Amino acid sequence: MRNILLVSLGAFFFQLFPVKAQELQPQVEHMMNRLSKAQSAMKSSACLQDPDCQEAQPSICVFENYCSELSRKSQDFYLYQDADGFRIPNSAMIELAALAEQCGQKPFPQARVDDPFAYPEKFINEEAAGGKASLARHQVTLQKAQDRAGKVFDETRMHLMDYLKKIRTKANASQIDNMIARTQSVKLTYPQMKGSLRDLASAGCDSPNAWYSASDHSIIICPQFLNYPEAALFWTLAHEFSHAFDPCHLSMDFSKQGAIFPDWMDDFTRSQKKEFPAVASKKNPFSKVISCLQGSKSTGVAIPSKAVLIREADQELQEFKKEAKELGMQDLDSIVAENRERKKTIQTQYDEFKACPQLTGRGHICESFADWIASEVLAEKLQKIQEASKAREYAFSSQAVFWGTSCRNIRQNLLNSLKSAKKCLSAEDIQRFLATGEESLHHLSPSRRMNRILLANPQIKKALGCQGGEDVQLCP
Ligand SMILES: [Zn+2]
Repeated sequence: MRNILLVSLGAFFFQLFPVKAQELQPQVEHMMNRLSKAQSAMKSSACLQDPDCQEAQPSICVFENYCSELSRKSQDFYLYQDADGFRIPNSAMIELAALAEQCGQKPFPQARVDDPFAYPEKFINEEAAGGKASLARHQVTLQKAQDRAGKVFDETRMHLMDYLKKIRTKANASQIDNMIARTQSVKLTYPQMKGSLRDLASAGCDSPNAWYSASDHSIIICPQFLNYPEAALFWTLAHEFSHAFDPCHLSMDFSKQGAIFPDWMDDFTRSQKKEFPAVASKKNPFSKVISCLQGSKSTGVAIPSKAVLIREADQELQEFKKEAKELGMQDLDSIVAENRERKKTIQTQYDEFKACPQLTGRGHICESFADWIASEVLAEKLQKIQEASKAREYAFSSQAVFWGTSCRNIRQNLLNSLKSAKKCLSAEDIQRFLATGEESLHHLSPSRRMNRILLANPQIKKALGCQGGEDVQLCP
């Protein structure tokens, strides 16, 4: 498990694979016409004067209420544009349009919004870009966007380090200094921008996304995410930076090149030169937060007990044996030995590595911790924004990636407006399309992440200008 992704993926990747041939239906045409309209509307956009283009502002502070306000925009190509012209694309629409194109077995280049951040193949492919000159122009745009992201990256790092310095005491000084040093040395990288859209997707960029890679101690930002409002980059980067010292990675020694993984993890280590030593879990300065986050008043994420993990390993072996018998396989020795080794690892490594997905198969606690740190840092940042409307806009757009990808009612609305496409798509495609934003083995749903961590923070709620919400405890 090399990468810790911000968003759980799924829906985007399948657009890259061929869908069966079907006749193009009028409703698909209709949707493409809407895309064309969205394109020309955005060209002459005076978005700030348009009340439809402002941030959603429900009175009750829950993810679902934001989504239901935003669903009025479900047929539009952009859900939001900030004062500086940065936008939240309607990712669900981009996905569904790609599916519809495949269903209809017909590309709709005339209907594509000319936005290379929404269609990153325009950054890498001359034909998709619309010629040599356009490709060159897009590449300049990309460079500018990367320069901007670099500035936000530095600024976010500074805010996170200030936050860590603020909570530094005599008792936790060496651990906090270790966290600061880890934060200080994280690198920023981008995926290779050549080849095809499929190559970009295999590199992890099949959607607006960013992640921290412990194996090379760097944060990777996908091109689809680069033109999002600044606050979205800020919050996401704060989350990714904190993975360098989340409860799993803090259990590991780090070189400046990245984590020195214990042998049993089977992960690639670049250098054995120890620069930032592991911190024992009982000495983690955030141990109260980590246990609070597991409480039912907070996210309620559970780290499975040692007994549960052993039982799971036993069950896995039993199931394997059953299947092997049906298939007539004889030699099971290596599987049995591997299973024995796995149980030994659970017994010996549990106390120090129970937060690690490599041991438990679940990443929820590290993700919740990273969300919690990002929310703390965002709250600090918001306090420095004097004007209430600006603070509200910043807090709202900090969650941009969730608004764009994970509002279920936007997805459902889009699907309802495409009744014929529904017939054309397979049940599996539809299910996958609707499932984006649901819980996965490593991520909680955006609803749980926001309602139980971000919106538990009173400063963030105040900036958003909403009240109430789920009955949650502020950690620690
Ligand atoms: Zn994460």
